[in-house]
Amino acid sequence: MTDQPNAGGGKSHGRLSIRASLQPRDLMAEPQVRGAWTAQVITLFPEAFPGVLGLSLTGRALALGLWNLRTTDLRPFGIGRHRNVDDTPAGGGAGMVIRPDVMDAALREAGPGLPVIYLSPRGKPFTQARARALANGPGMTLICGRFEGVDQRVLDAHAVEEISIGDYVLTGGELAAQVLIDATVRLIPRVLGNQESLAEESFSDGLLEHPQYTKPALWEGRAIPEVLLSGNHAAIATWRRDMAERLTKERRPDLWRAYGETRMDPAKDRQLSGASDQSRDYREQPKEPKR
Ligand code: SAM
Repeated sequence: MTDQPNAGGGKSHGRLSIRASLQPRDLMAEPQVRGAWTAQVITLFPEAFPGVLGLSLTGRALALGLWNLRTTDLRPFGIGRHRNVDDTPAGGGAGMVIRPDVMDAALREAGPGLPVIYLSPRGKPFTQARARALANGPGMTLICGRFEGVDQRVLDAHAVEEISIGDYVLTGGELAAQVLIDATVRLIPRVLGNQESLAEESFSDGLLEHPQYTKPALWEGRAIPEVLLSGNHAAIATWRRDMAERLTKERRPDLWRAYGETRMDPAKDRQLSGASDQSRDYREQPKEPKR
C-alpha cells in the first residue's frame, strides 16, 4: 500500500489547496466540507485531537476534505463557577460519574443526524464489519467517557450505542475514539492510495492476513519462502490463502469456526496445522494439493 491517499484520483470535495505548513490542529480549523463523512467527538480533552489522525493517510485525507473532524468540548457545559461535569455515583462507591444534564447539553450542541456511540468497555466489541457499516454512513458522534463513565439515563434518552475496543479499561475514551475513527476513515473511498489493499487484508474475507516479506531475499540466514520469488501468480495466491487459513486456525479459533461454517472443506481443515514460524513450517510441510 502506498502512504499517500489518492490525491490525484479526482478532485477533493472542497479544499482547493493543502498548505505544506498545515499543523494537525489546523486540519480541524479548516472550513468543514459539506457532505463529507464526519466524526464529531464529545470530549473533556479536545486538544487530544486530531492526534495520530492528523498524520499520514488519515491526516492527508482530512486536509483533502475527504472527511471532517469536529470536537465538542464538554467543559463549557459544566455546572457552576467551576464548570463541574461530574458528581459522585448514586449508591456510593469510588470515583465520579459524568452528569446526564451536562452530557445532554453537549449532545444537543453536537447536533442530530449522526449515529451516537459511547466508547465503553461494556460495549459491543468493535469489528471490521462495524467499521465498514460506519464508513458507508454519514459519520458518527462519539462520546468519550472519563472517570467511572457516563450517567445511564442520558445514554438511554439518546438511544446511544456502546462500543468497546477490547477487554481492558482505558483511562478515557479519547484513544478508543481515535481507533474507531482510524479504522473507519481508511475505508472511505480515496483515503487509501491503493484500494486493492482493502480487499486482501485481515478480516476482508474472514481470515487473518498471510505473512508478508520484502527485500533482502536472505536476511540473517532467513530466506523468503521460495514460492513468493517464483513469479507464479497462481502458486503465490494458493500459498497466501493456505497461510492465511493456517494462521487463522492457530490464532483465532473464533474466526476460524465462523469461516469454516461458510467455506472450509473439512478435509483441508484436518491438514492445516500450526503457523508460529510460517516460512519454516511451510518449507517443512509436504506439498499440499493445489485447490
Ligand atoms: N467504570 C468503567 C467500567 O468499569 O466499565 C470504566 C470507565 S473508564 C476508567 C473511563 C472511560 O474510558 C470510559 O467511560 C470509556 O469512555 C473509556 N474506555 C475505557 N476502556 C474502554 C474500552 N475498552 N473501550 C472503549 N472505551 C473505553
